[in-house]
Amino acid sequence: MNIYGLTKENLENYFLSKGEKKYKATQVFEWLYAKRVKDFNLMTNLKKDLIWHLKQNFVIEQLEILEVEKGDLVRKYLFKLFDNELIEAVLMEHDYGLSLCISSEVGCNMGCRFCESGRRKKVRNLTAAEMVLQILMVEEDIQTRISSVVIMGIGEPLDNYDNVMDFIRIINDPKGIAIGARHITLSTCGLIPKIEQLAKENIQINLAISLHAPNDEIRNKIMPVNKVYNIGSLMECLKQYIAKTNRRITIEYVMLEYINDSVECAKELVQLLKGMNVYVNLIPYNETENIEFRKSSKKRIDKFFDTLKQGNINVTVRKEFGRNIDAACGQLRSKRGG
Ligand code: SAH
Repeated sequence: MNIYGLTKENLENYFLSKGEKKYKATQVFEWLYAKRVKDFNLMTNLKKDLIWHLKQNFVIEQLEILEVEKGDLVRKYLFKLFDNELIEAVLMEHDYGLSLCISSEVGCNMGCRFCESGRRKKVRNLTAAEMVLQILMVEEDIQTRISSVVIMGIGEPLDNYDNVMDFIRIINDPKGIAIGARHITLSTCGLIPKIEQLAKENIQINLAISLHAPNDEIRNKIMPVNKVYNIGSLMECLKQYIAKTNRRITIEYVMLEYINDSVECAKELVQLLKGMNVYVNLIPYNETENIEFRKSSKKRIDKFFDTLKQGNINVTVRKEFGRNIDAACGQLRSKRGG
């Protein structure tokens, strides 16, 4: 197994089972994540026989960066995995620092009509190591630390719950990549049982919900998941999540021209979200050549925005990154014949 997929607790249990002290796990974490060593032999404060045991049980393997596309304030990475599958990560430069958007699955089963990634069914979960490595490889490439991570690339993270949680624990660990929980955002199309599970984890990450419609009629048309978990039950679940975690939720709303971007839709959204501790992020749609949806005009986005504001909803319009470089998630991979 690739060692980057182990949480510190996993590694502590491993050492305890070998009759060793727990703190060895911290030492290994420091080698991997503070010193970025890629060879067990270089872990010089570990005894020879311990290094031998580690080598018997684990490997230190990297991903391959196949391609980097560079645009203004954005870089898109195409990775090849151990089984030749391709995934993407997107690095964005904000005024508050660098954020990296990572993928959580190969393909995706959610089938959102407007999404390039969803055109390919899920092939498999990413391992925690493959998610950790997206960060390590990009940091090595740019020789800088990333300040925040968003799990918004290819895949539905809550459909790969256990690996994603291990990934979050590894990068959040002060001896790991040490990214604060408040700098980690998980985005989901709304898998209710998993959101309920997440509420119990006692971890202060940000939750973002891909809502994209104010009612079931529209949402059913663009997001098949709504037929399983409709808006009413999703809202109920989010209210409970907020009550339990005391955290504000982000509502993502991709602006699709003449589909969900009318003033009536905005008014309906105001009613839906009234009184909830949420903020709405309006996302200009990233058009892709394989899908017929169009992005809303600036005028329609502005009107939608103003209507939410008038309804006392916190709202921002997401900055557009990488339109010049096929940055809509899944586009780089699908160009390679997917
Ligand atoms: N499955 C998760 C995370 C991956 S998608 C989720 O649904 O949230 C990340 C976000 O990008 C979602 O809000 C998704 O709806 C949105 N998205 C997908 N394709 C897009 C496109 N072409 N332009 C803009 N946003 C898109």
